[in-house]
Amino acid sequence: MLIDLHAHSTASDGTDAPAGVVVAAAAAGLDVVALTDHDTTAGWDEAAAQAASSGIAVVLGSEISARWEGISVHLLSYLQDPDHPALLAEIERTRAARLVRARTMVDLLGEDFDLTWDDVMAQTGADATVGRPHIADALVARGVVPDRSAAFATMLVPSSRYYVPHYAPDAVDAVAAIRAAGGVPVFAHPGADVRGRVVPDDAVAQLAEAGLAGLEVHHRDHGPAQVERLGALAERLGLLVTGSSDYHGSGKPNGLGERTTAPDVLARIEEQGTTAVVRP
Ligand code: AMP
Ligand code: FE
Ligand code: FE
Ligand code: ZN
Repeated sequence: MLIDLHAHSTASDGTDAPAGVVVAAAAAGLDVVALTDHDTTAGWDEAAAQAASSGIAVVLGSEISARWEGISVHLLSYLQDPDHPALLAEIERTRAARLVRARTMVDLLGEDFDLTWDDVMAQTGADATVGRPHIADALVARGVVPDRSAAFATMLVPSSRYYVPHYAPDAVDAVAAIRAAGGVPVFAHPGADVRGRVVPDDAVAQLAEAGLAGLEVHHRDHGPAQVERLGALAERLGLLVTGSSDYHGSGKPNGLGERTTAPDVLARIEEQGTTAVVRP
């Protein structure tokens, strides 16, 4: 059983349509794939409809933006009620803030480079959650940088003068909101220090207290030391351990199935979630 619990589509910053993610997961030999777009469930119906013809199971979810003492935290939410009012209100607030933030970043970049908001919109799916990857794609289309990674290494990093933060809920509140919506919260890439600051162990303990279900220990942004630290932390706190690719289509090198989650861990997630896994 090959299970990959973290993938993005054009509903956020991936490059494959939601159905395309499921098709690609089947082609990669996976048995189960989760669709976890940033701050949205817009791709759920299309991905679920593709499960049967592709012959694989689909776990519906999202990746919720949050913060802990100013540090960016991404929480995977699996199998929640997509219409739960409180969680919906939170992600809509974040999505609106992301839009304003992206516009501000483009205004700043536009002072130094040939880049307009229309360029960014041309790279962004209809109603998609807007993020820095769309700005990166627009910079690539304008020939400013060769690829997304180059944009992230220079003008899009948090230390860049073009970087602007956006609103996101407190991580403890977000864990509680995911649980209240019947979702199963798993901390995405909790030790990804290549992206910026990561939270200390006691923050993870606070999140566990609030209802966190697991840690995404196995992720390409974790070196061996982080995998060991986070594995031990998960064991100490009684948290599930997951592994996933964080696939973004052609936008990132992450390949479907490059990290996987054990079947018994998926069973525990499914038991705790309010929406059923879509089986072919
Ligand atoms: P944002 O949500 O707008 O803050 O942008 C963060 C997103 O950018 C993450 O979800 C990743 O998908 C993407 N990202 C982060 N670092 C890189 C990178 N080095 N290359 C390509 N994409 C990246
Ligand atoms: Fe992303
Ligand atoms: Fe993430
Ligand atoms: Zn992700």
